[in-house]
Amino acid sequence: MTLWEVAEPALVIDLDVFAANLRVVRSRIAPADLMLVVKDDAYGHGLAEIVARASIEGVRWFGAFDVAGALATRAAAAEGARVFAWLTVGAEEIAEALDADIDLGVGDESFLEDVATVALSAGTRARVHLKIDTGLHRNGIRPEAWPAFVRRARDLERAGAVEVVGVWSHIAESSDDEDDDARGVFDEALREADSAGLAATHRHLSASAASFARPEFRYGLARVGAFCYGIRSAGGPDEAGLGISPIASLEASVTAVGPGGVTVNVGALHGLFSNLAGHAYVTAGRQHSELIAVGRASSTVAPWTGAAVGDRVTVLGSHAQTATSLAEAIDTVGEEVLLRVSPLVPRQYRGKTA
Ligand SMILES: *Cc1c(COP(=O)(O)O)cnc(C)c1O
Repeated sequence: MTLWEVAEPALVIDLDVFAANLRVVRSRIAPADLMLVVKDDAYGHGLAEIVARASIEGVRWFGAFDVAGALATRAAAAEGARVFAWLTVGAEEIAEALDADIDLGVGDESFLEDVATVALSAGTRARVHLKIDTGLHRNGIRPEAWPAFVRRARDLERAGAVEVVGVWSHIAESSDDEDDDARGVFDEALREADSAGLAATHRHLSASAASFARPEFRYGLARVGAFCYGIRSAGGPDEAGLGISPIASLEASVTAVGPGGVTVNVGALHGLFSNLAGHAYVTAGRQHSELIAVGRASSTVAPWTGAAVGDRVTVLGSHAQTATSLAEAIDTVGEEVLLRVSPLVPRQYRGKTA
């Protein structure tokens, strides 16, 4: 056997494929609007480039999770974009968010008070989306506390501190029955908000899977991340069935030869789950080669016929196995496989960015 080293890793991101996924998702969920979820550096794809291209494609809502992500999104987005952040944070970050005109998700009574206080002292009015806990118990107001919460929000609205522009929740999307129960709780929360006198124009509940498959979950706005990046759900319909394609591929080059197989440079695979060995392969030209070991210092691939220094290999992506197919082999989800690709691996972009 021959040992090869593979270096010059890159996560290659095709923004034209991303744009095509956006078109598929948006036409599927229409007339509901898309909120593109860009948390975790746009699922590892690079926030600035993703937001810039989505803006060119006409995306107007972004979901950024934390305030730092929201500020970076604001900087990259087109004028007039709505940026939603939902992590509960302290006064300083609330002030930064309001200054950058960020919409805030509020799923905690004391956070609502903090947001109102900061807004009043800044002489501004905070745009908030109130979160009902529909069963995930992560964050959100419990149904029994919701009527008092929406009345308090209405008082703060009258005082000029906040404007309640939305009501939202997050659901598991792992069982239709559980999701239906959550939707029942959500609808009741919407009725309560109405009767408290809140307009709450923007109503959002679903992420990729339910937005795509179940029209009654879309309301006016759907928060979609994974499918826009071409990451299908583990155990769900395949990419062809959804009409989406992965936008990222992890590539590297062969740099050295030795006995025992092809060694992949540590930078190339740094962060890949080591238990992918035996489940994954690399694609070299028209050939496949099994990933034998993923180690800290080197990763080994079986040699292929005619392999040579400089050969480019693809570890995952559109022309090889997908993040989700790898995830299924080791019982995780596709997002996790992509997020493990080290930030030290440079991102390269194909297609228009600005
Ligand atoms: C991550 C996330 C989403 C998007 O989920 P996908 O399955 O990637 O579409 C939507 N809403 C919230 C609150 C999230 O945290």
